[in-house]
Amino acid sequence: MCDSTQNGSYDENLHIASIFVVFVGSAAGILLPLLPEFILKNNISSYKEVLLKNLTFYCKWFGSGVILATSLVHLLFEAFNTLSPNCINLTYEPLSPLIVLGSLVIVLVIDFCLARLMYRKRLKAEQTIRDSNVIDDGREQEEKNEADLKRIQKIQAHTDIIIIESGIVFHSVIVGLTLGVATEPGFIALFIAIVFHQACDGLAIGSRMAELSYKGKRLQQVIMIVSYALITPIGIAIGIGVKHNFDPAKVSTQLAIGILDSIASGVLLYGAIVDVLAKECFGTGGPTGKPGLLEASNMDVASAFGALLLGAGIMSLLGHWA
Ligand SMILES: [Zn+2]
Repeated sequence: MCDSTQNGSYDENLHIASIFVVFVGSAAGILLPLLPEFILKNNISSYKEVLLKNLTFYCKWFGSGVILATSLVHLLFEAFNTLSPNCINLTYEPLSPLIVLGSLVIVLVIDFCLARLMYRKRLKAEQTIRDSNVIDDGREQEEKNEADLKRIQKIQAHTDIIIIESGIVFHSVIVGLTLGVATEPGFIALFIAIVFHQACDGLAIGSRMAELSYKGKRLQQVIMIVSYALITPIGIAIGIGVKHNFDPAKVSTQLAIGILDSIASGVLLYGAIVDVLAKECFGTGGPTGKPGLLEASNMDVASAFGALLLGAGIMSLLGHWA
């Protein structure tokens, strides 16, 4: 980013149009995996039900690949580049990986504390069952512990998604800003790439949301959807507003973007590997509490990894532009 000088022609109308197109792309991406949930509420034929459940499955694995590639190919690369010694004069040169390490450890600690709380609740619940000898009193306590456990499990699953969305949202602002200040030649290619970029990232968040129940948390779900759909258009609008004053090579801009990129990269790297892949593959208590892919048929495992590679591949290709 530090050596990018933009001297080409700038079509403001096209930039304003891009705000709306990117909004539609982002909204479509995040809403698509949530469709089955809304449609399945109505009575539909079993054929359609199978189709929709397959859609959820493929979206989820495709989305996992997208998150992995976003954390490594997009954020980590951009963070390293922006804070590279070629761009900025740093006393401590490996600053970017240091911040990635820091943010990864902080997210690990938060996630671990929640998991430990859940583990202790479970131990307590099991102990109560052993002690109770099916006395009514024990049964009541058991139900209470079970409810507590479910509540913490839900908090953890919802925290996981917020962590992933916050990493992606940060990258989305920068992507929007880049498009807002972009000039010809290159604007059209960047524009098309960003529409797909936002649709894929939206699909990744939407498919994680589809796994969870948002009963009693509808407002939170709506805020997450709306803020994701709006974040890149806002970035573009800011870019259009500051295009004459925006100098990506300025040291303070470099430092701010590089540091925030590094934080988002660490957050998303943890989210991609621990919250998404480890839980989904090895079944260490994913959002649904299901055993992950370990019990799935060979065909399902092959389909899951196929979709994962496709998501990671498409997002890696888009990394060429944004
Ligand atoms: Zn990107």
